[in-house]
Amino acid sequence: MVSNSLLWFRKGLRIHDNPALEHARKDATHLYPVFILDPHFLEPDPTDFSPGSARAGLNRIQFLLESLVDLDSSLRKLGSRLLVFRGEPVEVLFRLLKEWGVKKLCFEYDTEPYYQAMDDRVKDHASALGMEVFSPVSHTLFNPVKIIEKNGGAPPLSYQSFLKIAGKPSPPLSTTISWLPPIGNVEDLEILGIPTIKELGYGDIRQDEFSPFRGGESEALKRLREALNDEEWVASFEKPKGNPSLFLKPATTVLSPYLKFGCLSSRYFYQCLQDVYKKVKRHTLPPVSLAGQLLWREFFYTVAYGTPNFDKMKGNRICKQIPWNDDDELLAAWREARTGYPWIDAIMVQLQRWGWMHHLARHSVACFLTRGDLFIHWEKGRDVFERLLIDSDWAINNGNWLWLSCSSFFYQYNRIYSPISFGKKYDPNGNYIRHFVPVLKDMPKEYIYEPWTAPLTVQTKANCIIGRDYPHPVVAHDSASKECKMKIAEAYELNRKMNGLVSEEDLKGLR
Ligand code: FAD
Repeated sequence: MVSNSLLWFRKGLRIHDNPALEHARKDATHLYPVFILDPHFLEPDPTDFSPGSARAGLNRIQFLLESLVDLDSSLRKLGSRLLVFRGEPVEVLFRLLKEWGVKKLCFEYDTEPYYQAMDDRVKDHASALGMEVFSPVSHTLFNPVKIIEKNGGAPPLSYQSFLKIAGKPSPPLSTTISWLPPIGNVEDLEILGIPTIKELGYGDIRQDEFSPFRGGESEALKRLREALNDEEWVASFEKPKGNPSLFLKPATTVLSPYLKFGCLSSRYFYQCLQDVYKKVKRHTLPPVSLAGQLLWREFFYTVAYGTPNFDKMKGNRICKQIPWNDDDELLAAWREARTGYPWIDAIMVQLQRWGWMHHLARHSVACFLTRGDLFIHWEKGRDVFERLLIDSDWAINNGNWLWLSCSSFFYQYNRIYSPISFGKKYDPNGNYIRHFVPVLKDMPKEYIYEPWTAPLTVQTKANCIIGRDYPHPVVAHDSASKECKMKIAEAYELNRKMNGLVSEEDLKGLR
């Protein structure tokens, strides 16, 4: 039977291994590939401390726009094009389904609560109209729903137990698409070209103000190929051993933003890794290997999907209840890279300017904000990351903040990252700091991690007077970290006694 089908892109911004695209084109007279610019993520918010919308920093918005340009170009090579609209997605979609007499609606399954709620409405509506709806799992290697079922209805809560249940992922689609059905008549509708950041209302931004990572499937596949060409590097990849201070050539793949937007299929990435592993004599294994990193992604997706209130402390049964401090001044100092600890500030500047930092750099600043030094709620740090990261991902971000704050998964609160010695171990000369915090660029290496200890003559010579050109530390690390450990120990004890059921009153008692 021939009919009109609509492919609704949200993530999954790619042609390769795209089951929704594959199904949408089958037997279709016309295929309408649609992307709807969602004000929920894109409405400019000029009140915030850095440009962007309330939910997305400019780097991620730019990355999305670049990914759309690339997708449109790939679709055009196949005889189609991307139809871009702006507005509340469900309203726009309902209008298009009616306008084009769509009989088949295809979109990638999404486990994020925001999309789950939206997709329920869409599925109900489409089914009521007798439309076929196809919503395959292709953002992840596994279907979290199936893993939870196999585990008796609850998500596995450790990586190892997850691996035992997960088994092997299914391979990516092998089809290469060489043509697509044409789009039908769209003359009566206002279709946007892919807007520039300026056209979205964010003003004039110079290209050099964006992160060095360009969006899109073409770039993702190029980056993947470059990484995999170095088979020895892939075979010996061991996550905790990477150097977080490398920024000109980062120590890891920087494929996370491409996985986030689905410019790269995780199944394809996984299969390419297996191909390399087959060719080499020896290779590292999960959890530290590169394939192991993809499995961490799966682990967090599964736990996030199966845990009510995963993104909150309250009402989250796997989250320790901890009486975090509310301190807007300290939070702002952390967020705006003014803590007075150059290693921490450099990472926060990299977050603002690039929207990407190495995993251990993320560890350092997340630990510093929460259980290491400032004792501020992980949800506050999570919000800052969620907005500014180009790879911002609901499941992974919340999962890692729970981990780093010792609220879930990891409980060794005595192991704190020093904001001074941790970075120094990798980068004794402080090149990373000099790059991202240029006011410290002439500080001698003896003082670059603790500039407040430099004699005034040294500060003067380096053109950086502490307290004037660069702040004093907002807390003294030794005493702050001791106090944090004490508070967490008390909270853990109370959680143990109450078996996880801690009331607000109990928490007040701990403050
Ligand atoms: P690689 O080491 O090359 O790994 C390949 C892929 O594996 C990554 O692209 C990513 O998809 C996945 N991966 C790697 N590490 C992890 C991990 N710990 N958990 C889950 N998946 C992983 N990653 C995000 O993609 N989005 C986030 O919003 C995010 N927030 C984080 C917040 C905190 C506090 C911390 C500590 C980590 C966070 N991470 C997040 C995980 C990790 O830091 C990034 O995935 C990684 O640094 C991305 O760089 P890469 O692509 O070079 O990783």
